[in-house]
Amino acid sequence: MNVNNLGRIARAAAIFVLAAGICRPSHDAIAETIVDDAVLADPDQKENWLAYGKDFSEQRFSPLDQINADSISKLGLAWSLALPGDKSLLSTPLVVDGTMYFTGSYSKARAVDVKTGKLVWEYDPETLKHAGADRARNMWDSSRGLAFYKGKVIIGTADGRLIALDAKSGSPIWSTQTTDPKLPQYISGAPKAFRDLVVIGNGGSENGAGRGYVTAYHVETGKQAWRFYVVPGNPADGFEDETQEMAAKTWTGDWWKHGGGGQTWNGVTYDPDYDQILIGTGNGAPWNQKVRSPGGGDNLFLCSIVALDATTGKYRWHYQTVPGETWDYNSNMDIVLADLALEEGEGKRKVLLHAPKNGFFYVIDRKDGKLISAEAFAKKITWATGIDMKTGRPIEAEGARYETKPFLIYPSAFGAHSWHAMSYNPETGLVYIPTIELPSGWDDTKVNLKDWTKPSWDMDVAADIGLGGDIPKGVGTSSLLAWDPVKQRKVWEVPQRDYWHAGTLTTAGNLVFQGRIDGHFLAYDARDGKELWSVNVGLGISAPPVTYSVDGIQYVSLLVGPGGVGVNIGGGSIMAQYGWAYGAQVRQLLTFALDGNKPMPDVGPPSFVTALTPAGFTPDDQLADHGETVYKRSCAFCHSAGAVSGGYAPDLRASEVFLDVEQLKKVVQEGALALNGMPRFRHLADDALKALQHYVRKQALKTKEPPSN
Ligand code: CA
Repeated sequence: MNVNNLGRIARAAAIFVLAAGICRPSHDAIAETIVDDAVLADPDQKENWLAYGKDFSEQRFSPLDQINADSISKLGLAWSLALPGDKSLLSTPLVVDGTMYFTGSYSKARAVDVKTGKLVWEYDPETLKHAGADRARNMWDSSRGLAFYKGKVIIGTADGRLIALDAKSGSPIWSTQTTDPKLPQYISGAPKAFRDLVVIGNGGSENGAGRGYVTAYHVETGKQAWRFYVVPGNPADGFEDETQEMAAKTWTGDWWKHGGGGQTWNGVTYDPDYDQILIGTGNGAPWNQKVRSPGGGDNLFLCSIVALDATTGKYRWHYQTVPGETWDYNSNMDIVLADLALEEGEGKRKVLLHAPKNGFFYVIDRKDGKLISAEAFAKKITWATGIDMKTGRPIEAEGARYETKPFLIYPSAFGAHSWHAMSYNPETGLVYIPTIELPSGWDDTKVNLKDWTKPSWDMDVAADIGLGGDIPKGVGTSSLLAWDPVKQRKVWEVPQRDYWHAGTLTTAGNLVFQGRIDGHFLAYDARDGKELWSVNVGLGISAPPVTYSVDGIQYVSLLVGPGGVGVNIGGGSIMAQYGWAYGAQVRQLLTFALDGNKPMPDVGPPSFVTALTPAGFTPDDQLADHGETVYKRSCAFCHSAGAVSGGYAPDLRASEVFLDVEQLKKVVQEGALALNGMPRFRHLADDALKALQHYVRKQALKTKEPPSN
């Protein structure tokens, strides 16, 4: 079939549908796919993108090759859908029989006809209303995706609900609260469906005394099937089972008072070969182990991959990447299934591939959790010198636990690799990892470790627990890294400016696709990393692309709209340099095909914030110092570090509200803008607000000074 003809036919069909004003999914004309375990376990099915990582394998590899290293120069925009009102778009869209499903800001779900780009339905779970003005501040508005199973679309909401929708109409079928509404926990990850169950964890190990768990629900009814706790509870209450008892032996002190952490907010993979769920678990709560478990210990099952029986949720095996973790080095990154020929002359082994925050790439036997190999994929690692293959444990560097003095640690709390998905191409044999090179400074010499209590319900990752030592100016780079998991070595690498670039997609067309935070969407040759194609989409990208085909035409789709911790908290100054300002650019869903010839939508120009520096307001240094502490605990999670917004929330240096304490009280203490996404902070008293005002004004004045790096 001639590709050009196909393209013309598709466009003609699209024009017809548009002209007729018909807006219905195209799957009427296609044999309906029953998305069940057999389909989800089939890596060869190519028309659909059925699950978060395409299928059960989580490889994000598509066998489609119409768009390939030779034809890609003809790739162009087929259609776009503007998504005004959305902020962060991080979702991996799913495509089933010509209809695309994805989640957006505040967990809103949408279905779109992929031939026309027209909205089929929209479902708003009203997360801000459900959370309420106070709890909203502990939600993490970063939905990364959804599940599709036997005619149902299942979403997790930022306020902790799991909701099943009818895939055809978007009508809710059941809804269940998976978190304790009294606790500051949220869902940002994609639910995973298998064997008529759907499993979900949650996030919140930064927010307070939470105990991580994953729960499986029956897809049909939403009723709970099983729950597995990642960390043990208070021994006085009795343990749930012998696994919890075993885990408790690896903790010291009164860990349960701090919750322990271990929240499973991202990496969950169903392994059909062994009928098991593999969960990548979170960091400790609080981060500093000296507080959480003062006598040390491995603190199971923090920062681990844990295999659970899919039917019962019972523990099978675990591998801990960071025993006794104390740097936010969680193992929540994606867990990819592969069959690898590791030794010449031997058959293939069923392994998992995992590149967590700590900078090491792990190949683990899925049968028993045995470590096969582990090597540093991060160029710079200062917390450990390697992994001891005899014990499977990291060889920690001296002083890395900041025992007595500050320690600059690579990788940072963002990790050498975050949730931005990696992809694995079984044809090239390579894994494509978005990496980050950035340190964190750790210094708890001024922290009262013995009597540490969480100062408030706010997210206090900064000064209270040890993070916040000096970080050299000008650090922070990244790369797209092609890694050979068999030989455990780099094959090629594309160095990148700044960090927080998006997850990858790889195809049988010898391609790797990736969006960058600077607004460029690129394709590389999967074999050697040569840049083959690039387009400027006008706004930072944080979501991974997907590919699928309808009526013989291969499409690539991508959500555009920066988000996640690197935007909201850490990367304010990076985003600000590109002009990704709050409310300035319209978020988009873009779909590309060969011979696509639509112009890129006008998302709005880059916008650079002008800080307000009213004459007559001289910030008081002491007040500003107090204000900085308040800011780090209460404001930085959305308005970003240093009061330089990354675009998720308004830049406070330019906020009129901050010029008037009375207005500030209405917004902060009374929650006047709660339904706009600005939560209420009742406990911030007038003096705290005054201090905040002085800090923000001080930061505003700094913009008049020449940059220091
Ligand atoms: Ca964390």
